[in-house]
Amino acid sequence: MTTAKCNYFLLALLCVCWGSFCEPADSSENRKEHWGDIPGFLDQQHQHSLEAVEALLKKYPPQIEESLERRAALLLLDTVLHDPEAPGYASVQAFFIRRTQAVIAALQEERVTRGARLWKLYDHGFIVRTASTTIAFDIVTGKHVNKDGFLLPEDVVEEIARQCDILFISHVHADHADQHVAEAFIRNGKPVLVPEGLWENRPFNDHLVRLKREAGTVQTVPIHENADRLSVINYPGHQGERTLNNVVVVTTPEGLTFAHTGDQAYDKDFQWIDTVAETQRIDILLPNCWTPDMPRVIAGFRPALVVPGHENELSHTIDHREPHWLNRVRLGNEAARAVCMTWGESYEYVPAPK
Ligand SMILES: [Zn+2]
Ligand SMILES: [Zn+2]
Repeated sequence: MTTAKCNYFLLALLCVCWGSFCEPADSSENRKEHWGDIPGFLDQQHQHSLEAVEALLKKYPPQIEESLERRAALLLLDTVLHDPEAPGYASVQAFFIRRTQAVIAALQEERVTRGARLWKLYDHGFIVRTASTTIAFDIVTGKHVNKDGFLLPEDVVEEIARQCDILFISHVHADHADQHVAEAFIRNGKPVLVPEGLWENRPFNDHLVRLKREAGTVQTVPIHENADRLSVINYPGHQGERTLNNVVVVTTPEGLTFAHTGDQAYDKDFQWIDTVAETQRIDILLPNCWTPDMPRVIAGFRPALVVPGHENELSHTIDHREPHWLNRVRLGNEAARAVCMTWGESYEYVPAPK
């Protein structure tokens, strides 16, 4: 072999080796170190943490008495989501989308024959299904978090709208009211109930339903293209003095009753909160976990089951990304009738015989 030929041969060999040895080392999962790449390092650490969270949650599903393993999983989740940059990481974005897709897969499969099944979604989003009806509360796409990649894909939003019969939106804030979700419901012919002042000058305004804000009035809302009716009391709640916040108590045709509080936070509203249970028999209460005086809210509604929401809203600074570990402190003795869940989890509720 001449020197030139030999050099050419060595170069070709080097290229082959480079191609075969270097490719796997580039994949972020196989990296042996992340020196000089702190975001890459944290993303991998979050990835491992979230995988452990999911494995533990699967093994220890939602229940009133939390095992140490389940409590540790929710604590680990709080820890990941309290990274100030959490919504910017691919691992967290994938977790959010995957957990929501799991809800859709369950909705496509699950027929409810007794009681209700409740799914928790991002922030204060819930879907509850009974034998007759599937109701959505405050579902959002994540767009308000304003991080590229922290967003539900269009097909996911569309399928949520297809699977549900109605959407309730509590108040104007973007972590509860998402135009893309509302439009998907409207496109699918499903009623969207909104508070006064929300989207009044949008082209789809005619399709929105605004109920009277009256504690003493039972209103009916047609569903299933007028074949069935929901009974709704639209309590006149507030977040602070100024923001109108609808607190709905919804009764399905088979007589199951669900209450969603939105961002209820206004002392004067205890006037009606304290009296809800005098006329209503609530099966499940879905309060914002940070509502002032949670035990008093629960005493007012006197529900059979409490499932707090609004944990880890990622558009908030970490002091208001409410952690799961604070739920137990806030619930106090009411923890005995509460189930704490995270995105993508569900719980079967069977009412006690009357
Ligand atoms: Zn709010
Ligand atoms: Zn909120």
